[in-house]
Order: sequence, then structure tokens, then C-alpha cells
Amino acid sequence: AKEHGKARSALFDTAMYNQAMSLLQLEMALRWAIERQELRVYYQPIVSLTTGRIIGFEALVRWLHPEQGLVSPAQFIPVAEETGLIIPIGQWVLYESCRQLRQWQTQFPTASTLTISVNLSSKQFSQPNLVAQVEQVLKDTGLSSNHLKLEITESGIMNNAESAALLRQFQALKVHLCIDDFGTGYSSLSRLRQFPINTLKIDRSFVSTMREAVEDAEVVQAIITLAHNLGMDVVAEGIETAEQLAHLRRLHCEQGQGYFFSKPLNSQAAETLLIAGF
Ligand code: C2E
Ligand code: CA
Ligand code: CA
Ligand code: CA
Repeated sequence: AKEHGKARSALFDTAMYNQAMSLLQLEMALRWAIERQELRVYYQPIVSLTTGRIIGFEALVRWLHPEQGLVSPAQFIPVAEETGLIIPIGQWVLYESCRQLRQWQTQFPTASTLTISVNLSSKQFSQPNLVAQVEQVLKDTGLSSNHLKLEITESGIMNNAESAALLRQFQALKVHLCIDDFGTGYSSLSRLRQFPINTLKIDRSFVSTMREAVEDAEVVQAIITLAHNLGMDVVAEGIETAEQLAHLRRLHCEQGQGYFFSKPLNSQAAETLLIAGF
């Protein structure tokens, strides 16, 4: 079965990157995927490192391809960004994940405090009506704004002159703002201070080598200290081992996500986890 999976993804890679499947063809396939409702949201738990409890989920899109099976966003998000399809896709992920969390909140008392973290591409971030769209989704799904967290990248905000004003509008709405993959970009610290950011997410690349590479451990420590000095909290991504978890706890990192806790789950499996706990 493993061989088969490998062969399938190899086939898909070839299809994507060789000349046979042009960008245009992939764009068309992706348009079809949206229309045929082949996109799915997967949910990865975000865990409090102090209590060990699930405090929310990150929404991660998947393409349930009729022949290829589950296609990872790494294989189609770049095309979606290039073609502008990220706008309808992102809008759908936002709606669907807010709807799902609201449903869980009404079904399970333990879900009432959970948050949903949604990735925003820089293309979406440059949409003039973004704030109004987000407000509309909250209204349509009935989710309150303080349960929504938006994840944006450093380059997404640093390249946009309007960023500070836009982020302040979200802040006024009480939507929580996170910088994703922190440490991989080139944020200037003085500019970072101008933005009403609530959370820094430490990129997985630092967490995964933290135990072997002294420099990466120092980067992790520096990000945590920086965040706390600026009044922000920290999520460590990509926690895969008990050692990494223990190390992050010692550094006073308050939240984490990673395969050590759980891989991203379909809505059914996430719901089961919500009911049963870890
Ligand atoms: P990201 O936002 O940095 O999301 C975290 C990625 O790390 C996810 O990959 C997740 O499955 C993976 N991950 C989490 N824990 C671990 C771990 O312990 N070990 C390892 N090896 N990986 C871990 P995924 O789901 O394949 O998503 C890849 C990227 O695609 C995301 O990176 C994000 O940039 C983008 N993406 C996914 N969904 C969306 C979306 O709805 N909108 C936008 N704009 N981008 C999305
Ligand atoms: Ca993210
Ligand atoms: Ca990330
Ligand atoms: Ca990443």
C-alpha cells in the first residue's frame, strides 16, 4: 500500500511539473475541483503546553482528487496564488472552518472556548474588501470574532503599505492576528511593533532542529523572548517529539501543534478527538 501511495504521488508530481500538464490545465482542474466540491478542510489541534488541552484548530485545505486521492496544499496553493484562485478557495476555507467550529460549539460544551486559525495568503490580504468579507462570514456562520485567528506571513504584511491600517480594523473587530512561519522572513523588529499582532508562530524548521543545532535553539529562545517582551504569545509548529515539547516548555512557550499531538484530521476525526480528548 505504501508503494502504491508513493507511485501515486510521484505520478502527480510529474503531472504537475512536466510540460504535459501546463499551468493552464492545472488551473482548469482546480476550477473544476472547486465546482465539484472536492476541497476539504482538515483540522490540526493547537494545544496549550501548560494544560495539555486542545485550545483550537488550524484549518488546512486539502484537495480530495477523484483519482489522485488527497492532494496536499503544497501541490496546489502556489498555482492557486498565481492564478488568483486562492481568493475563492481562501474564502471557502474561511467560511467552512468558521461554520464547522460554530457547529461544534453548539454541539459540545467543551468546544465553546475553542478558536479556529485560518491561513490568509498575501493575495487575499491585498483584497480591498477583505475586512468586510471576514465580517460577513462571521455574521453568516454565527461565530464570534474572538474565536477567529488569522494567520498571515511576514512577507504578506511587510510588502503591503496598507497593512497596519488593515490589521487595526481586524483588531477593532476582535479578530486575533498571528504571524505564521515566524523567523523565516525578514521582519524588521521596529515595524513589527507597529502592528497589532497577538501571536507569533515559530516556523517548524527551527523546532525540528532545535535539539541538534544550537543556533536553531537560540532562534527559538529569541523568538519566545521577543514575543513576550512585545506582549504577544507564541505557538511552536511542528512538534514531533517529547524532547522538543519538554524543551519548549522550559522556554515558556505557551502553545504548540505538531504530529506529536496530532496530524491534521478530517472533520469527523477532529470531532471524535474533541469528544474523547487525547
Ligand atoms: P502552514 O500554514 O505553515 O501549516 C503547517 C503545515 O505543517 C501543515 O502542512 C501541517 O500539516 C504541517 N505540520 C504540522 N505539524 C507538523 C509536524 O509535526 N511535522 C511535519 N512534518 N509537518 C507538520 P500542510 O497542511 O501540508 O500545509 C502546507 C502549507 O499550505 C501551509 O503551511 C500553508 O502555508 C498552506 N495552506 C494550507 N491550507 C491553506 C489555506 O487554506 N489557505 C492558504 N492561503 N494556505 C494554506
Ligand atoms: Ca499556518
Ligand atoms: Ca506555519
Ligand atoms: Ca509553513
